[in-house]
Amino acid sequence: LTAAEEEVLEKIEAEDVDFLRLQFTDILGTVKNVAVPARQAEKAFTEGIYFDGSSIEGFVRIQESDMRLVPDPDTFAVLPWRNDNDGVSARMICDVYDTSTGEPFEGDPRRVLKNALERAEDMGYTVNFAPEPEFFLFEEDEDGNATTETGDHGGYFDVAPKDLASDVRRDIIYGLESMGFEIEASHHEVAKGQHEINFEYDDALSTADNVATFRMVVRAIAAQHDLHATFMPKPIPRINGSGMHTHMSLMTADGENAFHDEDDEFNLSDEAHSYLAGVLEHAPAITAVANPTVNSYKRLVPGYEAPVYVAWSDRNRSALVRKPAARVPAASRVELRSPDPSCNPYLAFAAMIHAGLDGIEQDLECPDPIRENIYEFDDEKREEYGIDTLPTNLGEAVEALEDDEVIYNALGEHVAPKFVEAKTQEFQEYLVDVSEWELDRYLEKY
Ligand code: GLN
Ligand code: MG
Ligand code: MG
Ligand code: MG
Repeated sequence: LTAAEEEVLEKIEAEDVDFLRLQFTDILGTVKNVAVPARQAEKAFTEGIYFDGSSIEGFVRIQESDMRLVPDPDTFAVLPWRNDNDGVSARMICDVYDTSTGEPFEGDPRRVLKNALERAEDMGYTVNFAPEPEFFLFEEDEDGNATTETGDHGGYFDVAPKDLASDVRRDIIYGLESMGFEIEASHHEVAKGQHEINFEYDDALSTADNVATFRMVVRAIAAQHDLHATFMPKPIPRINGSGMHTHMSLMTADGENAFHDEDDEFNLSDEAHSYLAGVLEHAPAITAVANPTVNSYKRLVPGYEAPVYVAWSDRNRSALVRKPAARVPAASRVELRSPDPSCNPYLAFAAMIHAGLDGIEQDLECPDPIRENIYEFDDEKREEYGIDTLPTNLGEAVEALEDDEVIYNALGEHVAPKFVEAKTQEFQEYLVDVSEWELDRYLEKY
């Protein structure tokens, strides 16, 4: 066993852990668990834990279904809640291996992100990401089912007593901190019942792990308060939806921020400008991965602080990419504002990284920033500035993904076709459905 693995065994002893949850995600980003008694930890490290991959969305067919989970000891954390009568549980995030070849399984989203990070490393960079996930807390009905009632009347940055959910948010933060999260800020968001919790930047892999864990913890702790936490991007029409702005920067091997340049007008280096240009160039295809649900496109409409137009800015927040003011060189970064928290963070981050690295590799020229409110531009003005629009629905986004070799390849041979298939089917199902809106509008009129 490695030192890190030994340390996990010691913690299991010391904290009296009974169960280990071995965690990974399917291609849709849903967290999956295989639970084993904690005494199997050593075996999990040395041999891995076998499981049937055929029931996991986007993994494998029945006849090739044996998969192996190998836990990453750095991700050991005791879960901050217990179910009645259960003992203490801890989790570790796992890499998935293919039992027939013994190699990492290319269908594992974590593998897809690791591939992106290897490309960055080959180019001399490590990658830092920080997300700003937003979510709604809704009340449950008598049967414990989620409603869209918020039960609170707070607004952006409001404090108690209006913000009735602040107790829940505090519990969520304690829970996250006990699992090793560094919480930077948390606040009530613009919409009723909407919240945001920011955690500190980390390498992109840890950040993706953190997003997956975050969603699980937020839901579990909200449920203890009889509330339903949802990361659905637009649960209520005509008010703000939930985004997951993502801050990105590259570091050089000697630990310098490769995105910072003191002498540049925006304090961004040439690499940062090219990275940004790559993200803009591949924005439509990234959208399929970072905004992967039918509902995601109800958020990406003008007027609710969500991006619609492919442009960047150092000032206004209507742009797709923003350059936040950085107080110290280490904080120079770019913020992509399109992702929403329904995405698979591993796949979305991989797409974003490949887009940016492609910009650097091709030495792409970055357009000028837009400093006006782009929501107010008409078609003519957008054309004059050469500003494209993001895909307006999941179908268009999937087409953009299929047309974009860089982003399609970013997902890898295994995941890309499976992702396209799953999302095409999802969109087709949506198209043939008849919505509440249609019934309200037409049922009595015609
Ligand atoms: N909720 C907004 C979105 O959909 C963001 C609001 C904000 O953080 N300023 O992206
Ligand atoms: Mg924020
Ligand atoms: Mg926000
Ligand atoms: Mg932001």
